[in-house]
Amino acid sequence: METRDLVVVTGGSRGIGAAVCRGLAARGHAVAVNYAGNAEAADAVVDAVVADGGRARAIAADIADERQVAALFEQAEAELGALAGLVNNAGILGEARPLDEQDAHALERLLAVNVLGPLLCCRAAVRRLSTRHGGQGGAIVNISSVAARTGGIYGTVAYAATKGAVESLTRGLANEVAREGVRVNAVAPGLIATDMSPADVDRLAESGVPMGRVGRPEEIAEAVGWLMSPAAGYVTGTTMTVSGGR
Ligand code: NAP
Repeated sequence: METRDLVVVTGGSRGIGAAVCRGLAARGHAVAVNYAGNAEAADAVVDAVVADGGRARAIAADIADERQVAALFEQAEAELGALAGLVNNAGILGEARPLDEQDAHALERLLAVNVLGPLLCCRAAVRRLSTRHGGQGGAIVNISSVAARTGGIYGTVAYAATKGAVESLTRGLANEVAREGVRVNAVAPGLIATDMSPADVDRLAESGVPMGRVGRPEEIAEAVGWLMSPAAGYVTGTTMTVSGGR
């Protein structure tokens, strides 16, 4: 019988994505660990999964590039079998400065990675998973941010806007494919300790997070793993906030 347990995780080489890869592998998924340029970090995630008896491959692709996204899904399926899910995790913060000081090219790149990328990856996944396309269904989890609701910390208005778009994409696509076997949800992390975190993240958490601490990438991975699993079979179109109360 064909196994259908592949999940493509964009930005799986570091931070939240790396924890998501390890968590999904522990739940029995084969994982395509996508990355932009840090091959060493992606290989380390693959090595950790394989050492634990799982299956994973590192695949480089800029998710803002249509052709590279197509190649990512083709290579993932060629090496790891049929697609069962997608985690749209890759994202960038952009320039941390007020909007009136932002450069248009930097804004274009932010929108391309954080909005166009998830749209292209969702399109590629739906074309494989949807029963309308002859697929057997599956699940998509998009990584948003509490910034979609709060507007972000000072200097991250544009980033917050991209995450608002991710939540609209989640809601709309969930409606579109609800009768085609595909569930689409989002996880909105609060302050999580990764390379993206600001230098004063602990101080920010102390003053701005009800629980008073920064979150761990593994705490996001747990939510993603559940939303991806059959236990969440009646859950679609929702955003789960994992933020220590923020
Ligand atoms: P991170 O540590 O900076 O890691 C970013 C990951 O995305 C890396 O694996 C990176 O690959 C990859 N990436 C970046 N641009 C890419 C592109 N164009 N194509 C493919 N991959 C790309 O980030 P993080 O903190 O884990 O954040 C992950 C997600 O969570 C993002 O969507 C972020 O907005 C969201 N989030 C984070 C926080 C937080 O506090 N950290 C809070 C809320 C939401 P390389 O290793 O090759 O560079």
